[in-house]
Amino acid sequence: MINVLYAATSPTWEEYEAPLRRAFDAAGLPVTLSRDIAPEQVDYIVYAPKSDLTDFTPYTNTKAVLNLWAGVEGIVGNQTLTQPLCRMVDHGLERGMIEWVTGHTLRHHLDIDYFLARQSGSWEPFVPPLAQDRPVTVLGLGELGRACAVTLSQLGFPVTGWSRTQKQIDGLTCLSGPDGLEQALSTAQILILLLPLTAETTDLLDSTRLAQLPKGACILNPGRGPLIVDAALIAALDSGQIARATLDVFRQEPLPPEHPFWAHPQVTVCPHIASETRASTAAEVIAENIRRGEAGEDLLFRVDRTRGY
Ligand code: NDP
Repeated sequence: MINVLYAATSPTWEEYEAPLRRAFDAAGLPVTLSRDIAPEQVDYIVYAPKSDLTDFTPYTNTKAVLNLWAGVEGIVGNQTLTQPLCRMVDHGLERGMIEWVTGHTLRHHLDIDYFLARQSGSWEPFVPPLAQDRPVTVLGLGELGRACAVTLSQLGFPVTGWSRTQKQIDGLTCLSGPDGLEQALSTAQILILLLPLTAETTDLLDSTRLAQLPKGACILNPGRGPLIVDAALIAALDSGQIARATLDVFRQEPLPPEHPFWAHPQVTVCPHIASETRASTAAEVIAENIRRGEAGEDLLFRVDRTRGY
């Protein structure tokens, strides 16, 4: 028997128990799945950051911790975690992010807000440019950033992508490293943040970098809140340097009611819904990793602790 501990509180046991059992059965894995297993008997831990499990020291025989979320900033620095850590890369997560990013990019590109605000008989024609004349930049060309960048490129936007290591992706201008960032920002009429939160990416978009964007740029942040310095963004919105920001993630979540983002007319607040791990497909990813672990094969989506993602 393979003992799998479900150690997440959100998403709940009720959401994941049946999909996980189905996926283990489909993979032919003899699994005991429970929220309560003696630590030394646990083979795998299904984990999400909002968990009561914070000390991994007693899990001496655990072969891997399988995170249900794509982001691992809530666990990667845990000094008690010596077991391999895998993050979630899931079909549903990717499709959801593509849809959210595409929708909000088109909203800004077509200036849908302009027309929504003129539904009281005001006939004021305004023709937006074609996508081919609207350069977009995606910071982060990983599983999600790359998928979104390719989709936007297929819609006709000239897309620049930026990552830590140099990439070559058909249809995209790929830049990397600190030198590439200024260039990537300089053309970005719409900027999309799909970077993980690490020591290197925290506060990346400060007042200097916001000033490197073309005047009137729009920002979408489905990455992580601390990628942007909040006060710098508000100052850039107030000055007109940034026209609008759609923010899905925040330094503190839920975003406190008194936070100025809520009342700012150029900010749209989304409650961290850009993309959710979908239980049915995520359960298959968990099952596949357990199958690999048991077969002695390399685990999928291993987190590199030194990189932090
Ligand atoms: P990946 O790990 O696949 O990709 C991360 C990308 O960021 C890589 O291209 C990586 O470069 C790049 N990167 C990391 N550090 C740096 C750096 N210092 N400088 C330049 N580039 C850097 O992550 P995913 O695409 O799967 O997810 C991205 C993030 O999206 C997650 O970490 C999470 O924070 C967020 N997310 C948000 C959700 C939401 O609902 N709002 C849902 C899911 C994820 P390289 O390729 O060279 O390694």
